[in-house]
Amino acid sequence: MNRLLIIGPPGAGKGTQAVKIAEKLSIPAISTGDIFRQNIKEETELGREAKSYIDAGNLVPDSVTNKMVRARLAEQDAQNGFLLDGYPRNPAQVHELDDILSESSQKIDRVLLLVADNDELVQRLLGRAAEQGRTDDTEDVIRHRLKVYEEETAPLLSIYRDRGLIKEVNGLGEIDEVTERILDALK
Ligand code: AMP
Repeated sequence: MNRLLIIGPPGAGKGTQAVKIAEKLSIPAISTGDIFRQNIKEETELGREAKSYIDAGNLVPDSVTNKMVRARLAEQDAQNGFLLDGYPRNPAQVHELDDILSESSQKIDRVLLLVADNDELVQRLLGRAAEQGRTDDTEDVIRHRLKVYEEETAPLLSIYRDRGLIKEVNGLGEIDEVTERILDALK
């Protein structure tokens, strides 16, 4: 039960919760957004390929993202489990992930869906913009990212719902309270 996904709209608290849950379960939290941001900071080729998409709030092309995830999941620390945060982000990536895992007879055990209403999400993201200065946390880009989530990411949920893998968790409240809810959902 330790190959996990955490999915939810921007601002739902996926990144924060992913780190805490992964630590509890002794598995790596793998955030595609963090990997992209690190590569942009280090000015790698991957960073250069991804930057314009990220700054505009659009998805980085699947060809770039899939290759990166395949390489990350092949690393030693991910062999006994992982918590993927921010991937898959569209139905095509769901199928790519299936392919990557099936090559080593693995599969996803559980999908955590973190939910919160739109007004709360925008408020949280604007707050984070003030604190962290992420280049994609301006109000226009935030609204665009929420739209991209609805149009491109939300449709993948029905795939995992049909497989009976989704556990929905309310993302509102104190950080520790939400962590407890997630741990309960994994029991
Ligand atoms: P996040 O930190 O998960 O909010 O991701 C920040 C940005 O990185 C997103 O708005 C996308 O531009 C890009 N990104 C992260 N994960 C993916 C993915 N699985 N597919 C495409 N783009 C992604």
